[in-house]
Amino acid sequence: MIKKDYYEILGVSRDASEEEIKRAYRKLALQYHPDRNSGNKEAEEKFKEISEAYEVLSDPEKRRIYDMYGHQGLEGSGYSAGFSDIEEIFARFDDIFEDFFGFRTFRRRERPRQGRSLRYDIEITLEEAFKGVEKEISFERIEPCPECDGVGGKDRRPCPACRGTGQITRSHGFFHISTTCPKCNGEGYIFSKPCPECRGNGYIKRKRKVKIKIPPGVDTGTHLRIRGEGEPGEYGGPPGDLIIVIHVKEDDFFERKGNHLYCEVPISFVQAILGDSIKVPLIGGDEVELEIPQGTQPGELLRIPGKGMPIFGSNRRGDLFVKVDIRIPKHITKRQKELLEEFAKIEGMEIKKDKKKKKSFWEKMMH
Ligand SMILES: [Zn+2]
Ligand SMILES: [Zn+2]
Repeated sequence: MIKKDYYEILGVSRDASEEEIKRAYRKLALQYHPDRNSGNKEAEEKFKEISEAYEVLSDPEKRRIYDMYGHQGLEGSGYSAGFSDIEEIFARFDDIFEDFFGFRTFRRRERPRQGRSLRYDIEITLEEAFKGVEKEISFERIEPCPECDGVGGKDRRPCPACRGTGQITRSHGFFHISTTCPKCNGEGYIFSKPCPECRGNGYIKRKRKVKIKIPPGVDTGTHLRIRGEGEPGEYGGPPGDLIIVIHVKEDDFFERKGNHLYCEVPISFVQAILGDSIKVPLIGGDEVELEIPQGTQPGELLRIPGKGMPIFGSNRRGDLFVKVDIRIPKHITKRQKELLEEFAKIEGMEIKKDKKKKKSFWEKMMH
């Protein structure tokens, strides 16, 4: 892309004085100022363009390089010409605009930035996930220093190393390299009396305790966002959030699949054959009466609707599936044995008591 000539952009001659350049920029800045051209993309681009031209031509060093080597010369010398957004221009020319228009367009040197969000992993039981639970958690986070109210110290003054720009430009012959000022960390100012508590940072690490409410129905991987409990924002920005990441422990009795619960309940083979009604424990402590139908098969799943986990964010619930584990008694009484033999006889089964032939019993069962 061929870049337009900076003098042309500002409409001044190549030998224009500093004062002429400033006047030209003032006139154009007034014309294309975003406050007067709200939402006008073209004006915004133009505003960026004239600001870039002014940034270069108002700086004797940059202007000299530009005059001699053009756009490429500036790039080669490490100057990043141009602005990515309007705010950057406001921040850069704050003082000039005040001079131009009699007021500051942009009061802050930096854009407000939201603070970092923090993540906290928490483990809860299935029971707690079912009922919902309130927990007090404690974690470390950065907070404004209480000693200096987050200011960082007393006697704020422009950083002498970078003259308040936050950038140090070093010349290596023809080249200029800009780096963040190490004395003020790019802030542009220092304190002659830095706060001893935070060593001038304005922030300190502190333990914070927060009560959190975990609603019913959460599952492993559920994220809960607690607004404003993260790290503080910068330059008047809002604080970050605290993200609670849930981990639900495995339960000894219930297995969870989504919103449904599964459990296994032992019944005797007689209950399976004749049918019965049994009590099944529910999550949360209650019990429910479950009908075992006649002829229930081993491993059959019996469904109890609406007795599973709450569906997160609704008042419905999943189902409970009961797997019947049919137990065969290891020891029976003589009388029970007689009755079973009688049963076998009616079924037309011939039960051989001879141990060697026991296999044939199973073979018969297969038919
Ligand atoms: Zn500095
Ligand atoms: Zn402090």
